[in-house]
Amino acid sequence: MNVLIVEDERGLALEIDEFLSKQGYTIEHARKKATAEEKIFVNQYDFILLDLGLPDGDGFELLHTLKNIKGREDAVIILTARGEVDDRIKGLEDGADDYLAKPFSLNELLARMHAVIRRKHKLEKNDIEVFGFNLDIKNRLVTFGEERINLTKKEFEIFNYLVLNKNRVISRVNLTEHVWGDILEVNSDSNFVDVHVKNLRKKLAIHAEIPWFETVRSIGFRINI
Ligand code: CA
Repeated sequence: MNVLIVEDERGLALEIDEFLSKQGYTIEHARKKATAEEKIFVNQYDFILLDLGLPDGDGFELLHTLKNIKGREDAVIILTARGEVDDRIKGLEDGADDYLAKPFSLNELLARMHAVIRRKHKLEKNDIEVFGFNLDIKNRLVTFGEERINLTKKEFEIFNYLVLNKNRVISRVNLTEHVWGDILEVNSDSNFVDVHVKNLRKKLAIHAEIPWFETVRSIGFRINI
């Protein structure tokens, strides 16, 4: 999943980056409101971690801009030193998914991100059952019965993204954006997405037939559950 960190405190931004990268997230940074705006017009993010006090404006303005773009599903978690109840209420009323007051623990941030994913995808727990396969979002594991399937980080991310967005055709571009981040930075003329999907399918197919994992010709992929 891709995350945009909108934060002008460089140290904190890097700390979050390091922590979430280890969890398999793809990270982009914006230190100013203007940079963040440019980015949200080009890319969609699974998460936007939003500081309110930015050098060239207020994070709330960015939240409004985002919420005025039709069809956006980016989850927003506000990170701010402003702990006032009024700000917290305003953030949530304006469409943020959660709010963390600085300083916060990175583990709490991650737990809240998992909670946002569960709410957004209407999951009761961090595990999703897919025709005998078990996808554990929290521990980033896929198992079949007792057996653990040895996926690479990217293979897990692909499976995770397709399962969360089940029954929807996910285009190659969309998948690339969410798994690899800014598509402009990725060598997009190769069919590297297909290579990763092929390897993922192969690893799953060792355990069971996977007719539910569909390649939609010339568009992308869909997991039918
Ligand atoms: Ca700030």
